[in-house]
Amino acid sequence: MRDTAMRDARAFVVSATDVEEFRNLINGEWMQSSSKQPFDNANPADSTDIVGRFQASTAADAGLAVDAASAAFEAWKKTSVSKRAAILNRAADHLEAHADRIAREVTREMGKALNLARDEVLRSAQTLRFYAVEGQSLTGEVFPNDDADMTVYTLREPLGVVSIITPWNFPISIPARKIAPALITGNTVVFKPSSDAPLSGYRLAEALAVAGLPKGVLNFITGKAGEIGAAITEPPVIRAISFTGSTAAGEHICRSVRFTTRTQMELGGKNPLIVMDDADLDQAVDLTVKGGLSLAGQACTGTSRVLVMKQVRAEFTAKLVAKVKALKIGSGLAAGMDMGPLATAKQLETVLRYIAIGRREATLLCGGERLTGAGYDGGYYVSPAIFTDVTQQMTIAREEIFGPVIAIIEVDSYADAIAKANDTEYGLSAAIVTRNPRVMQDFANDIQSGTVKINRTTTGNLINAPFGGLKRSSTSTFRESGRTGLEFYTQIKTVYRGT
Ligand code: NAD
Repeated sequence: MRDTAMRDARAFVVSATDVEEFRNLINGEWMQSSSKQPFDNANPADSTDIVGRFQASTAADAGLAVDAASAAFEAWKKTSVSKRAAILNRAADHLEAHADRIAREVTREMGKALNLARDEVLRSAQTLRFYAVEGQSLTGEVFPNDDADMTVYTLREPLGVVSIITPWNFPISIPARKIAPALITGNTVVFKPSSDAPLSGYRLAEALAVAGLPKGVLNFITGKAGEIGAAITEPPVIRAISFTGSTAAGEHICRSVRFTTRTQMELGGKNPLIVMDDADLDQAVDLTVKGGLSLAGQACTGTSRVLVMKQVRAEFTAKLVAKVKALKIGSGLAAGMDMGPLATAKQLETVLRYIAIGRREATLLCGGERLTGAGYDGGYYVSPAIFTDVTQQMTIAREEIFGPVIAIIEVDSYADAIAKANDTEYGLSAAIVTRNPRVMQDFANDIQSGTVKINRTTTGNLINAPFGGLKRSSTSTFRESGRTGLEFYTQIKTVYRGT
């Protein structure tokens, strides 16, 4: 389908109003939705800039995507793993060749700085290459037994049709880390990106189509969760769902699907960073700003609570406020900006609502204003808010805000810090800043968190290491990333082979 897919995609993208219209990819064809009503995807740095027009798909469209994935499964399962790997590598070539253009699109549709967007596109290509290699050495086990004429071993085989549902904050790398292991292990996919950043996912689907993925193996469909969510999660033919998004949506999906549908849910967080009294305070400030604000606080692993020892609280806080006040806020496309806009109007509203709650509950030290005026009008800009005198019971200490809001909580011992850090329903990422090796070791053991960082930001994770949360941050069924990322997409058969 390689050449046809590209030709068709190009033929359909230009609409009469100069805003490109992007279609669904179903059974190898770039198709309009039966609703014939596209929706607009706006630039959060300037909401009058329409990045693209996407299909407001219906349940009927979603049904076609599921049927196409189902029909393609047997042949894809039988396709040799080296052929599957070659397709992933060619898709990686495509992403790398177009990295600059795709990075600009990522920035235009969700606001992150251009250098971060470029890193994300290249990381997505690297993820495809990683699974092209790693997927080729996925093995079963052989078991000793007493019968000299029998060999007992396990086979790992693909599940079937997998639904992949993703958020807007890492709009190409999260889809890549799910789609690559799904495809290399022989599954077929229905992929629904967030309606707030669908173009990045489209580019990934396009790269795989250009790379020669057979029709129906990957189906890309856009639209509202309320319209198509059930159609891509509830049919019995859907053998697995890999979802990244809010805890509320993940829990809803888990409750609505069959017990035989495997789920992998990577959800929200309320990530703490502990600053011990022996910490390098400049490093602690740096880690807080990078972890808490680099994506305007919109990383699932972003630092949102800073638990600081009372001996160093005043000095740490003064340094933090000075650094935050000096940050440059502006469009991700402009050079030298430290923080971009929030990704959507809804995000802006949510973040301003939490800031208003924080003003009533705690002490606002800086920021927390909607930014207006030249360069800001039409965009969803907020100055980063630092709150102090925050206590455990406060809303801003308990709920995921997902914005540039940092809560400083005083602690008086390591034990107090751990108790407060763990006093949350979430468990995605947690960090500590200390020079004490004993405390480092204890922290790794004591903290209830899927990712543990010592003198590093709460954000960031490797392609080749497992990633996922604990508690209400994840179903904790299977981890993403690395070799473990392949396990979710395969099932085990145990074979007893006599002579
Ligand atoms: P969201 O839950 O609103 O949406 C995520 C995706 O799920 C979107 O594509 C959405 O359309 C879809 N969706 C929502 N309800 C659905 C349903 N009932 N059926 C099928 N699909 C449905 O989340 P968001 O606002 O896009 O992203 C922000 C959230 O994602 C935050 O809570 C953040 O912590 C979380 N997140 C988690 C991780 C992680 O790895 N743990 C990574 C990034 C983001």
